[in-house]
Amino acid sequence: MKKMLIAGNWKMNKIAAEATELAASIVNGVNKLSGAMPQILVCPPFLSIASVVKAAVGSPVIVGAQNCHNLQKGAYTGEVSAQMVADSGCKYVIVGHSERRAYFGESDEFINLKAHAAITENLIPIICIGETLEQRQNGETFDIVANQLKGCLAGFDKSYSEKIVIAYEPVWAIGTGISATAAQVDEAHNFIRQELNKYFETEAENVIILYGGSLTAENADEVLSIRNVNGGLIGGASLKAEVFLKIISISQKYL
Ligand code: PEP
Repeated sequence: MKKMLIAGNWKMNKIAAEATELAASIVNGVNKLSGAMPQILVCPPFLSIASVVKAAVGSPVIVGAQNCHNLQKGAYTGEVSAQMVADSGCKYVIVGHSERRAYFGESDEFINLKAHAAITENLIPIICIGETLEQRQNGETFDIVANQLKGCLAGFDKSYSEKIVIAYEPVWAIGTGISATAAQVDEAHNFIRQELNKYFETEAENVIILYGGSLTAENADEVLSIRNVNGGLIGGASLKAEVFLKIISISQKYL
């Protein structure tokens, strides 16, 4: 059975009432689905986590955060620790999203520290990697992805294969409406799976690898059918309950 995680990244969208309404609509739709279910995750802004956790109680929908700090507490104004994220009812946390790398200067080393902190708090970090358009055009995709994995996965061995998730998100495909082609996704995910052997050895097959980048209800079938794709990290298309639910139901075909 193929592992499948359908994750919504709501980014900096939805005030608390809107987030609660979106979560309630997703929960309602998910409860009407029958058959095997993927793991379903929504990652609202920090301030809506509590109300979304409440809306999702007793349903298969789980909640994650979009970021965390690696330290437990201290004088880091504006930051939220992994411990606080876990305490709020989250089970996952996204680390190293390309928007955080680009706008907040996050390095692979810092992302690695966040991933370790998350695991210490029993959170599963979703570690984001992916090349820019320029890097792809220069033929550097594999080098970039391999280096990001090396930095982000320092200190992890095969005992962590089910404690982390990798999200391959080509930067040029995020929020642009231009998804990577099936052939590009297949090639990148095969490469990532192969690289994961270096860290997780015999357990590399167990690591969930998500695709992210303009995934929609229209292209989900093609992308989710790819062998080494274990689901999606979905931005824009996760903000509409009916679209997110459609992607969830498409994913059921590949479980
Ligand atoms: C994302 O935010 O991780 C993402 C993939 O966004 P979008 O689906 O909007 O491209």
